[in-house]
Amino acid sequence: MTRFEPADVRSWGNVLQAEHHAAFPAWRDQLARIVLSGRQEGRALLATGLRRSYGDSGLNPEGGLIDMTGLDRIIDFDRERRLVRVEAGLSFDALLGVIVRQGFFLPVTPGTRFVTMGGAVANDVHGKNHHINGTIGRWVRRIGLMRSNGEELELTLESDPQLFSATIGGLGLTGAITWVELEVLPIESAVMEAENIPFDNLDMFFSLAAESDNAFDYTVSWIDCLAKGASLGRGIFTRGNHAKTGSRLPGRGNTKFTMPLSLPSLCMNRYSISAFNSLYFWNGKRKAGRQNIPIYQFFYPLDSIGRWNRMYGSKGMYQFQSVVPPAVEKDATKEMLKTISASGQGSFLAVLKTFGAISSPGMLSFPRPGTTLALDFPNHGETTSRLMARLDDIVLEAGGRLYPAKDGRMPARMFKAGYPAWQDFAKYVDSGFSSHFWKRVSQE
Ligand SMILES: Cc1cc2nc3c(=O)[nH]c(=O)nc-3n(C[C@H](O)[C@H](O)[C@H](O)COP(=O)(O)OP(=O)(O)OC[C@H]3O[C@@H](n4cnc5c(N)ncnc54)[C@H](O)[C@@H]3O)c2cc1C
Repeated sequence: MTRFEPADVRSWGNVLQAEHHAAFPAWRDQLARIVLSGRQEGRALLATGLRRSYGDSGLNPEGGLIDMTGLDRIIDFDRERRLVRVEAGLSFDALLGVIVRQGFFLPVTPGTRFVTMGGAVANDVHGKNHHINGTIGRWVRRIGLMRSNGEELELTLESDPQLFSATIGGLGLTGAITWVELEVLPIESAVMEAENIPFDNLDMFFSLAAESDNAFDYTVSWIDCLAKGASLGRGIFTRGNHAKTGSRLPGRGNTKFTMPLSLPSLCMNRYSISAFNSLYFWNGKRKAGRQNIPIYQFFYPLDSIGRWNRMYGSKGMYQFQSVVPPAVEKDATKEMLKTISASGQGSFLAVLKTFGAISSPGMLSFPRPGTTLALDFPNHGETTSRLMARLDDIVLEAGGRLYPAKDGRMPARMFKAGYPAWQDFAKYVDSGFSSHFWKRVSQE
């Protein structure tokens, strides 16, 4: 459909919801007509993917959305050069279904495979291998970009360094990404050699991270964000490598169950979450050790429950993902965890990881060297806002920043302090594109 139709759109966190007008192209040659009609109707536009961003970076209630998920074809796959060219609305799930059995994997993947290529590039996503592969933008060779005047540009780092860098991690504000050419990673099997190591506190986490980064391509930790005192920051450290032998078949996916509807918000309280975290930790201790596991189970454990965001009930949840620089990472992370555990408001989805030194190509890319902490907070209104404001202060003081893909409320001053390149970036924003997020953080 090339006309704008009313559509009810929610963010993944479910806190933000608004009536939108959206167009649903099925073919790339419909895009020029869509952007031109958006222009005529005076709508600033925003392309969106599978809406796995938590906050308002994918919302644009005053303008129009272009839902790109109908543009989901593989255009070309050059195995010799390891280059795959795909339409921007293709999901990682669909792409993996084709390339894994042919001996390739994504060079970088987030913790869910239900994202589109366009969305992943527009957020310059990172994965468990940031310390060796950096962000996905480092692996993008060419981008097709539809501007609001109906012109489709072909960008490379060499031909258009500024617009290319603004588009990677550019939150959809430089135009609609129509297709992407990506270098993929050769693998020998669809099996992962994984190891789980329980750790009792934050210092042990930092020792494990330092010891693992050279020998393991993938590292990440789950932490019990409600543990206190000597156990502050306890968790399970996971590290792994692609196995050299084993089946090349990825299996049929690991989604076992889909949440049919939102749970009552009361289910998410300090007692249920604390009980879950303790159980998970002690279970992890019992099952510690090495094992070979299927590739989806290693990369996408959260995908085993479809629409798990509904667990947070109708009030939804916020995610908070920060990164703080190496010089202060231990103190700042400790301070954040103390604040969270004292508040009793954290949830069971808390992740800690150290980023490596490989720089990201995007002007607004989130990753930088240091430690990243990501966790969900069930939305309890003012109480949650006050806690997140205290965490903001710790991150600001540490010279860190927050991840726009996960954010639905960071104050403009926080965004501007964390992303000093934002004014440079603003020069490359297409005036025919906008978002709720961008209006909120750039114009206050
Ligand atoms: C369970 C879970 C785990 C996650 N783990 C990670 C992780 O480990 N690392 C990480 O980096 N992120 C992670 N994320 C965040 C997720 O990877 C990003 O939000 C991703 O960008 C979502 O892709 P999407 O297709 O849903 O895009 P959307 O959420 O629909 O859109 C995201 C942004 O991209 C823009 N956009 C989308 N398509 C286009 C296009 N064709 N052209 C131009 N702009 C476009 C939108 O305007 C918006 O600004 C996770 C999210 C979830 C739900």
